[in-house]
Amino acid sequence: MDNCLFCKIINGDIPSDKLYEDDDVFAFRDISPQAPIHFLIIPKKHLRGPAAVGADDEKLIGKMLRIGADLARQEGVGDAFRVVFNNGAGAGQSVFHIHMHILGGRSMNWPPG
Ligand code: 5GP
Ligand code: ZN
Repeated sequence: MDNCLFCKIINGDIPSDKLYEDDDVFAFRDISPQAPIHFLIIPKKHLRGPAAVGADDEKLIGKMLRIGADLARQEGVGDAFRVVFNNGAGAGQSVFHIHMHILGGRSMNWPPG
């Protein structure tokens, strides 16, 4: 999609610190990390956000979770990580291409401080 920051990261127009890529998903470090480990998993398919996920996308979203957990282990946080999806500007979504945040490497008590 034109004028989408994360589509541009996927196609390489904007550089990123890439952690993983396959035919369906792309993972890269967040430019403004909120934890020692903070990266994003995005689908190559442009979806506006969690509320735009359709029945056809269910397998894709599950794959994002599986890859995210694998990468978290690879990044050394073991099984101590948080998964966040923001939906809508009112909830803090600032990039309107669905993305899964993985955060780890510090205290991950709930609710977040
Ligand atoms: P949101 O607030 O929409 O849930 O999350 C968007 C995330 O994208 C933010 O954590 C922000 O730091 C990150 N981000 C925004 N622009 C860029 C960029 O150009 N490169 C990278 N790697 N991350 C970005
Ligand atoms: Zn996009």
